Amino acid sequence: MSRRYAILLGYPVSHSVSPAMHNAAFASLAIDAQYEARAVPAEGLGDAVRGLRDPAYLGANVTVPHKGAVVPFLDALAKEARLLGAVNTIVRRPDGSLVGDNTDAAGLQRWLVAAGAGAVVAAGDCLVLGAGGAARATVMALARCGARSIRVLNRTPGRAAALAADLAPRLPDARLSAGPLAEAAAAGGPYAVVVNATSLGLQGLGPDVHPTRFGPGGWAVDLAYNPPDTPFMRTARVAGAQSENGLGMLVHQAALSFYLWTGAQPPLALLASAAVAALGGAARAVEGVRR
Ligand code: NAP
Repeated sequence: MSRRYAILLGYPVSHSVSPAMHNAAFASLAIDAQYEARAVPAEGLGDAVRGLRDPAYLGANVTVPHKGAVVPFLDALAKEARLLGAVNTIVRRPDGSLVGDNTDAAGLQRWLVAAGAGAVVAAGDCLVLGAGGAARATVMALARCGARSIRVLNRTPGRAAALAADLAPRLPDARLSAGPLAEAAAAGGPYAVVVNATSLGLQGLGPDVHPTRFGPGGWAVDLAYNPPDTPFMRTARVAGAQSENGLGMLVHQAALSFYLWTGAQPPLALLASAAVAALGGAARAVEGVRR
């Protein structure tokens, strides 16, 4: 078989570190394949997905703004993509059919456990800021780690309420509740884990979170990773919480996509160092990816 390809479908994609991660993994495992990022506007999405039926393709990753829009162009959805209502990975099956999957929740869950936060989440009370696709994946990951309760706060409170109402029946062991983002700014009891799943971290900004929401022994995770340190992470660190960015989740979700395409496990530490190098070496050491 001649060279195979995997692509990233998004708009824009120039910021993505996925090509660096996947190409490093292909090279290290001597797999003759290449990963390319493609900036595809909405009107070009159907043609771009149809192109994946060519036997040269292993599949694709899908990122903003196409994670939901891509669904009508696929032949089937894996259970996880149905649960998350979004696709971040497309797998081309040998018969040319295309299956949409999602590795975000499993990637975050694996990273939390590998980084040492699993025991903190288990039976703990958790707070999720945001109610978009990443927040939904976060709720799934925290529930699967055994969280006792998960409170979802969002700028648009109705979206948080809808997320909690939709997932509650599927996660009977985690008490889900919802409220307005402003609640996080008020003093209150600490949470075992606080995850910022708003897109504010991308802009170097953060939601207003009162320091009492973080506590010694707790964890704070900003799903953004560029910039590598955010106001949310700094507030949490000063309050005594272990404070991490989203690079570990990024690495683990990439490893899961890579496995879906190739059946091979890429070295996590290699993915992490490739991502850090692609970010200009600006990222902090990545907890939970040293295997
Ligand atoms: P999304 O679906 O667009 O959701 C964005 C969320 O941010 C919504 O809850 C939105 O609130 C909130 N938000 C946006 N601007 C805000 C503002 N000015 N003030 C307060 N809240 C604001 O995005 P997403 O896909 O969930 O991604 C969210 C973040 O997760 C991004 O930083 C993304 O890079 C990161 N992410 C990281 C990974 C990883 O592997 N590390 C994977 C996926 C996503 P409203 O509902 O009120 O608009």
